[in-house]
Amino acid sequence: MAILKTLYLLPLIFIFALICTIVHSKRDHSSPSPIDFNDLQGSHKGSSIKGLHKLKHYLEQFGYLNYENKANLNDDEFDAKLESALKTYQENFHISCTGILDAATLAKINVPRCGVPDIINGTNAMVKKNHSDPLSESINIVSHYTFFNNRPRWPLSQTHLTYRFLPNTHIDAITAVDRAFRTWEAATRFSFSRVRNNERSDISIGFFSGDHGDGRAFSSGEGGALAHAFAPTDGRFHFNGAKRWGNGRVPGRYDLFSVGLHEIGHLLGLGHSQHKRAIMYPSFSPGQTKRLTKDDIDGIRALYS
Ligand SMILES: [Zn+2]
Ligand SMILES: [Zn+2]
Repeated sequence: MAILKTLYLLPLIFIFALICTIVHSKRDHSSPSPIDFNDLQGSHKGSSIKGLHKLKHYLEQFGYLNYENKANLNDDEFDAKLESALKTYQENFHISCTGILDAATLAKINVPRCGVPDIINGTNAMVKKNHSDPLSESINIVSHYTFFNNRPRWPLSQTHLTYRFLPNTHIDAITAVDRAFRTWEAATRFSFSRVRNNERSDISIGFFSGDHGDGRAFSSGEGGALAHAFAPTDGRFHFNGAKRWGNGRVPGRYDLFSVGLHEIGHLLGLGHSQHKRAIMYPSFSPGQTKRLTKDDIDGIRALYS
């Protein structure tokens, strides 16, 4: 009898296994394939490797490469310009400045990051230009915070900023970004309040994917930026809706609060920092959480002093 029962169950088990396989293969098919930079490991000036243009596109997206002849951006030749761009990238991320796409550089490129370029109009925003903080110099503290070119900021008289979430923003993001604004508020001269999504506001936050009309398309796949925000007084802050978001240290998901803190830093006028622990460091790993550091707070205080 027991054997008969098992025999009856066999077709059911088979159908269940078949459904699982279909669902699994569909999921694999629909998830964006990562940019496989690893195939390019070891490439250097003079190399010609299929797919090298993907590295050029990556470096161009973050401001490191700017070809006069756009055809060079789409070929697979490792030219002198690419070597120079790679060296600047390595310098910014404190990797040995070899100009070769080595394992250490690949490891860094494979970490997801903010979409705000590190180099804007040819100026390397990650290199600190103004070390004239006498207090820091006298006690030998090196600050790493940076600003956008020409130090755009909100008017000194405007210490209160309003923000709104665009329609369809998930409640998890609203809660996390609210908390990020309160965190900045506690550390700076600014105060923030949320207004309804149909009201005028200084800052607007929403989720977008692909090309969404602001000249900074979120490229698909794992290589696409997590989020971006614009310098003062633009006020736009966009999350990449194609990424997996979460709250806190959730494996495989990006922390809305940490990325929120980072993008608000841009909205207030901070550029990227070379200091790994600073919230303004450009890279974020899934499952990672971060907080404001003294470097970030010092940056805002210096910008608005
Ligand atoms: Zn950023
Ligand atoms: Zn955008």
